[in-house]
Amino acid sequence: MVSDALTKMLILQDRDMKLQQVEDALKNLPVEQRDCQARIETLKAAIEAGRQRIRELETKGKSIETEMASVETQIVKYKNQQLQVKKNEEYQALTHEIETAGRKISDLESEELEVLYELDEARKTHAEEEKRLLGQIEMEQRELAVLREKEERVKGERAAAVSAREAADAELDNPTRSKYLQVARGLAFPIVVEMSAHKCGGCHMRVSNAIDSDVRAAREITTCDNCGRILYSAS
Ligand SMILES: [Zn+2]
Repeated sequence: MVSDALTKMLILQDRDMKLQQVEDALKNLPVEQRDCQARIETLKAAIEAGRQRIRELETKGKSIETEMASVETQIVKYKNQQLQVKKNEEYQALTHEIETAGRKISDLESEELEVLYELDEARKTHAEEEKRLLGQIEMEQRELAVLREKEERVKGERAAAVSAREAADAELDNPTRSKYLQVARGLAFPIVVEMSAHKCGGCHMRVSNAIDSDVRAAREITTCDNCGRILYSAS
């Protein structure tokens, strides 16, 4: 049989465990949200890195074009000079310069082709990758919204859990409350457990015969001689 005090302690324990669940959730939810936010930042950084790579290739392409234009201007200048020089050596020297510049142009053209090819590939890859990353960000943002909603809901539940606990606590007389709190200190819930077949429902160890009969009699609060939890017998 279960005494009145034990019944009240079981109710208080139930409320305590609910409150603990709420407190644990409130501790974990901000951490989960921070993790979620960190994953979003990482995904955004990956998108930005892809965009940066494209910008770099575009800049490289432009600088090659600028260089080509300047070499071409130089060639025009050499050709104009050739029209003015009198000596054959000077003419030859300019021809040599024009040939060198021509090779430079041809090198720059191949370089530009490579960059354009790379740019094309990067744009294609980036478009697909960005789509995939944006999809992931959207998923994370939905998750984040769910976590925020849950936190708000649990915050509301905490107030209810606290007052439910207070109501259950008010039912206990002082000695019973002291005993309950004393046992609760340093032990994980549940701290009021059923004893069945001579065994404590908390630590699962066999209790002494004296404790077994005390628990059955249910005249006073009896604790497990191994773990210290409060025992009751449902039979
Ligand atoms: Zn025990």
